[in-house]
Amino acid sequence: MENKFRVFATCDIGDAVNLLRTRGYEVEVYPKPEPPPKSLIVDKVKSGIDGLITTLRDPLDAEVFGASPRTLKVVAQYAVGFDNINRADANRYKIPFTHTPDVLTEATAEFAFFMMGALARKMWPAEHLTRDNEWGYWHPYLPFLGDEVTGKTIAVIGTGRIGLALIKKCAGFDMNVLCYDPAYENHNYINAIQEVMNLRHARGISKEHNWIKYVPFEEALHDADFVSIHVPLLRPGESPTPTYHLFNERTLRMMKPTAFLINDSRGPVVDEAALAQALRENRIAGAALDVYAKEPLPADSPLRDPTIADRCRLYPHFASAARITRLSTDPDKGMAGRCVQGLIDVLEGNYGGDITKMPFVVNKEAFAKS
Ligand code: NAD
Repeated sequence: MENKFRVFATCDIGDAVNLLRTRGYEVEVYPKPEPPPKSLIVDKVKSGIDGLITTLRDPLDAEVFGASPRTLKVVAQYAVGFDNINRADANRYKIPFTHTPDVLTEATAEFAFFMMGALARKMWPAEHLTRDNEWGYWHPYLPFLGDEVTGKTIAVIGTGRIGLALIKKCAGFDMNVLCYDPAYENHNYINAIQEVMNLRHARGISKEHNWIKYVPFEEALHDADFVSIHVPLLRPGESPTPTYHLFNERTLRMMKPTAFLINDSRGPVVDEAALAQALRENRIAGAALDVYAKEPLPADSPLRDPTIADRCRLYPHFASAARITRLSTDPDKGMAGRCVQGLIDVLEGNYGGDITKMPFVVNKEAFAKS
């Protein structure tokens, strides 16, 4: 089948664009590693493209959606989060946008787990000690000790796809789990994890009998050794339970001074100045972050304070950055494949052309028949 669709990708997403080319699409890929200026995206839409492939770096609002609403038919976002897209503006111009859920779930969950381990076991200061030739002796507790993850209690904030995947991994480390989610409590999954914990204990695989339960937010923060955040960025007005600055001066004070905070969801969920202050005052034991209010992390970020460097791990929005997860052209394995599939579904009218039935379209509400 020959398709004459024109597509502009704001970023190189690898071989997946060739799937489009072999179907007859004309695809232009922005060649630089940095995001293109918004004015260029607007110009491309004005030039009459049918589809736009975007990343979380591209701000998409009425200026983009309204630039040529009769020719632009779909925006395919290469990410599960879509807080860079103004949903109301997309709906106003009746332009569906897609995302890439599920295929990055395990990679992002395991990265949260690894960040937690690296932080608690002080892997960064320990490697520095070795590399900087400051490893003078073996000693029972000098120059520092880390904290075990095994057997500890984790609070998982947000029990959607990634939160549940992290819970599955934590169960393997004999952790107890406190769950918090104001909108979605998956009791079937949590009960199944409890059954696994029961079996591990009954068969002597786990020494302690571990547990998992949903609790209120305050209780989760108060009782956890690790708090891991897995929520979408929801600004005030976008949800009855917004997540913008969910972790702030007040809520950080609910955590134990021995507890660690992990965030690979979205940066603005954490008030960074309040977090840096909490770390400086040793009100929490440490934090590991993959995402920031402003990315890339600015040179003057309070998180770069050298006095907290030993207990503040910083990563470059890297949680989904694993080879298969990012680049596989298989829509069941890779973000690239799933992104392109979302675009094809809309442009080629799969699912009988019914946008509300297309699995990767986010703003289905704009297309529901009243
Ligand atoms: P999801 O929609 O499956 O799960 C999010 C969960 O958060 C939902 O269950 C929702 O009910 C819950 N939630 C909403 N408001 C909440 C609140 N106030 N308190 C607690 N929970 C709340 O999404 P997902 O696939 O699990 O992804 C979660 C987020 O992770 C994405 O939105 C994205 O921003 C981020 N993410 C980051 C990376 C990375 O590379 N760092 C990769 C993938 C996803």
